[in-house]
Amino acid sequence: MARLWPLSRPSPTARPARLVLLLQDLKFGGTQRQTLELARQDKIIGHPLEAEVRVAVSGELADFLADKWETLKAIAIVSELVAVEDAGPGAFRSEEFPELQVTVRAAAGEKCERCWMRSTTVGQDSDHPQICGRCATAVAASR
Ligand SMILES: [Zn+2]
Repeated sequence: MARLWPLSRPSPTARPARLVLLLQDLKFGGTQRQTLELARQDKIIGHPLEAEVRVAVSGELADFLADKWETLKAIAIVSELVAVEDAGPGAFRSEEFPELQVTVRAAAGEKCERCWMRSTTVGQDSDHPQICGRCATAVAASR
């Protein structure tokens, strides 16, 4: 099947190198990847791009992440990264960061043909019914 869209990912928002280093120090990415892999093995999601990752943090970690969710989402490359009060039953807990809980489920909505992420905005743009709102905006802006 011919691919309709180039295999490109949405360009991440600005990510200061310092923050990335801090996040790597926190092993946040590692924890999340591990969780995604578990979710894949359990057949909850087919691909990390289709995942909705729910993250609950408390204490110092919550303060640290308070203004960094957008950056985290850009780095994570999943359909949704949501900050929640309680990650719910069966949440992955990090030994290193006990104040961090992560759960993964399939994101709601259809799969976008341009970025492969799931979004409830797919189908809303009548000019581009097969892509998500974010991609429709990007396509419109590139013309
Ligand atoms: Zn898209």
